[in-house]
This record gives sequence, structure tokens and C-alpha cells, in this order.
Amino acid sequence: PLDRLQDPGLLKTDAFIAGDWVAGSSRFPVHDPATGHKLADVAKLGPADAQAAIDAANAAWPGWKSKTAKERSLILRRWYELLLAHQEDLATLMTAEQGKPLAEARGEVAYGASFVEWYAEEAKRINGETLPQFDNNRRLLVLKQAIGVCAAITPWNFPLAMITRKVAPALAAGCPVVIKPAELTPLTALAAAELARRAGIPAGVLNVVTADAEGSVAIGQLLCASDTVRHLSFTGSTEVGRLLMAQCAPTVKKLSLELGGNAPFIVFDDADIDSAVEGAFASKYRNAGQTCVCSNRIYVQDAVYEQFVQKFAAKVATAKVGNGFDEGVNQGPLIEEAALQKVQRHVDDALAKGARLLTGGKRLAGQFFEPTVVADATPDMLCAREETFGPFAPVFRFQTEQEAIDAANATAYGLASYFYSRDIGRIYRVGEALEYGMVGVNVGVLATEHVPFGGVKQSGLGREGSHFGIDDYVEIKYLCLGDI
Ligand code: ADP
Repeated sequence: PLDRLQDPGLLKTDAFIAGDWVAGSSRFPVHDPATGHKLADVAKLGPADAQAAIDAANAAWPGWKSKTAKERSLILRRWYELLLAHQEDLATLMTAEQGKPLAEARGEVAYGASFVEWYAEEAKRINGETLPQFDNNRRLLVLKQAIGVCAAITPWNFPLAMITRKVAPALAAGCPVVIKPAELTPLTALAAAELARRAGIPAGVLNVVTADAEGSVAIGQLLCASDTVRHLSFTGSTEVGRLLMAQCAPTVKKLSLELGGNAPFIVFDDADIDSAVEGAFASKYRNAGQTCVCSNRIYVQDAVYEQFVQKFAAKVATAKVGNGFDEGVNQGPLIEEAALQKVQRHVDDALAKGARLLTGGKRLAGQFFEPTVVADATPDMLCAREETFGPFAPVFRFQTEQEAIDAANATAYGLASYFYSRDIGRIYRVGEALEYGMVGVNVGVLATEHVPFGGVKQSGLGREGSHFGIDDYVEIKYLCLGDI
């Protein structure tokens, strides 16, 4: 599929440190999950290279933070324009290494680029404050200053957007970054770095350290232990997030964490059912169910239960599964064998505990899984507790509003939640009662660049995107001036 690239110069397989492409002493393979074919061999770096990247970032920091906000803004703006100008090539790389349908990949490029556009603008609005003095002989100021060298460890499910959502606010604030992209999807990250270079982001300000799974662990340890790295942003599993948090304790590093979810999707009996079916489909099956905001548990009120499950299963049965490059495909492969096994385990467990299979249920040849819906799901099933991260929708039944709220909140996670209702009182009550960082009401997709994305409970710390997203990349300094 990489023959489709219009600009072959975007196929980079070396890491990017201090403005140079670094081959490393060995390589690791990157595969196309739709075909199993190898796409490229990428530089396999280790902790010594990561240390070089930290040093390069630290050396570039004074120059970058002393640029004016407008200078940084203009450079970011150029990066944004280049990302969009190369949308098709970036989407090709993404579909090839990640598997999502090409239309979704194009959408992610636009979404990923939008964070760079937004923070190019926000760079000019990192305002301090003047506070009222407690003594007329003094003046009190609040400065917002770049926190320092930032590290970003990113996942494979959004190979571009999870990088730009962290890197753009860091750069806007005046911080240099070291990125450790997911080992399954480094090609998109490296192409984005090449475009950053072309945009004029100075050497050392943006570094990409590639590694295989084992190397990622060692590099993670180094990034966490480094005194020079002042902030770590991670998107990925709660398990790894906890580990990184512990590893960051000795240096009391500031952390932004976007971890797992267990999103409830509630359909009340006053909902527009056709709209709820569309919303549930978009929310559940986007990226083959491999997003942290995908609905994991669908709760439907008794009176509309059968109507919803029949319509929903019929809709899901129309999904076309296949290679993301093929026309009309709206569900690609899963990312790896372990992902397929987890979905199968959740489906088998649900069926063994009495769920009713409405569509799908099994693996297809290769790394594909049938879009699956079961009815009569119950709280004792694995799918009620664990994030499936795949194309499996269990539908639970409930009677009262309170029962739905209690079930939705009965989890350690709190990222996205969704509900459908036309009753304004209920919309307020339920919207306020859900213990989640994000609540979609009568929508199945809610992320965009100018809203705060993030979770509560064990879904993470901090918010990304929006004007709030810059907060993690600045330190607040209080300046007290006396003898006025
Ligand atoms: P996912 O559920 O998305 O596969 P992971 O949490 O396993 O998420 O991986 C997300 C990112 O975290 C990837 O870049 C991966 O290389 C990295 N990673 C995984 N384990 C560790 C670790 N122990 N230390 C540092 N990074 C890690």
C-alpha cells in the first residue's frame, strides 16, 4: 500500500533526534494488520538514544521558549498547513500500519491537524494575571512559564491525533518534546516529524524516539526517571498508566494521563430510537471498537428494549468488514492477535452466561472479527467490567433512571459516557449524575479540538484539547514586587 504515497519522502523509518534521522544499531518490523505483510523496518532505539533526545530537547529549550508567542504560533501554523496538505499520504500510512478504513484515516489527519491549528492560536493567549495587592507597597503578578522538557508516550489507535494533542500545546507553551510513539504505528509519527522539520520547528524541539515493545519499556523508565523531563503525557492502558505514575514518583513529575474507559451508552424510553441506533453504531464501531471512548456497555430501558436491539443488530449486520483501503469498508482489522482473543473471550463469556446472540460472534480469516451484538447482557459478564476494545456490543436491560445511573457509574473508569433522552429534566439530572469526564447527550461522537477531553477516576488525569489543554504545559509563578 505504500506505493500509493504521492511524496515518498514521507516514508521515514529512522528515529528523529536533534534534527537528524537516527538509524540506531538495529531495526524492528512494522506490519499491515489487514494483510500481515511487513511494511518497513524501523530504527530500534534504546535508553542511550532516548537520553540523547532528552539532551537535545533540553539544549533547544532556551531558544524555543524565548521566541515570541507569535513566532511559535506561525511555525505551528505552517506545520498545520503541511499536515493538511499531505492528508492523503498521512492517511495512507495510517491505514497501512493501523488498519482503520481510509475515510476514517483521512478524518483522523484532519482531527490531528486541528490540534496544531488550535494551539497555534492559543500560543498567543497564554496570559498571566495581576492580582490585587495586600499592601500598597507591593504589586502581585502571576506568570505562566513553559514547564520544560516534555515526554509523550502515545498509543496505536490514533497514530497522529494522540501525538498532536500532546505536542501542539507543549510547543505552543514553549516546551520541547520527546515522543515515544507506539511500536505498532511509528510510520505516521515519523511522517509528522518530517513535516514538523519542513515547517521550521527547530532541531531538538521535537524528537521522535522509536522502539519495539521491549525497548519502549526501557525508554519509558528512562523518561520517567529523568530529572530533566518535567512532564510526562501518556495515552494508553490504565495498567501502563499506573506503572508510569509510580515510576514518575521519585522525580515528582507532572503527569497527564488518558487511560482506559468503560463507556456506558444509555437509551431511555423517551429517546428517538432511530437516532440512538445511529449514535450507538458510530460510538461502538468506529475504529473497529478500538477507541477509549467507544461504548462498552449499552443500557436500554425496558419499554424500548426489543425495538432498539432489533434495529441496532440490523444496522450492525450491514457493516462491511475488510481491508481499510477497499471501497465501502467501514470496519478494518483489529490491531493484533491479542485483541482478537480478548473480543472472543468477552463474546464467549457473555454467551456462556446467557446472552442472546443477535449478529456476528466469531473471528473471520486474518485479523478480522465480525461486528457483534448480544442482548440480555448481565453485570456478572466480563464485558460489564472490562473494556473490550473491539467490535462487540453487549446490550443490558434496565427499568428505572436511577438503576441506569447506578449501573453506569459502577466502574473504576470515568472517561466518556452517552445517553439518549428527549426530556430536558432527565437530561440535566443524568448529565450531572454520571461520574465521567465527558457526557454525550443524543450524540455518539463528541471529541473535537476545542473541547476538554479527559477522564475522572482511573481513566486519568488532566484534560487535552481546548484552552484547558495548555494548563499541563505551564507552571504558574507568583511574583511579589515590594518597595513600590
Ligand atoms: P494499548 O492498550 O494502547 O496497547 P499500552 O498502554 O500497552 O496501550 O501502550 C501505549 C503506549 O505505551 C505505547 O507507546 C507502548 O509502547 C507504551 N508502553 C507500554 N508499556 C510501557 C511501559 N512499561 N513503559 C513505557 N511505555 C510503555
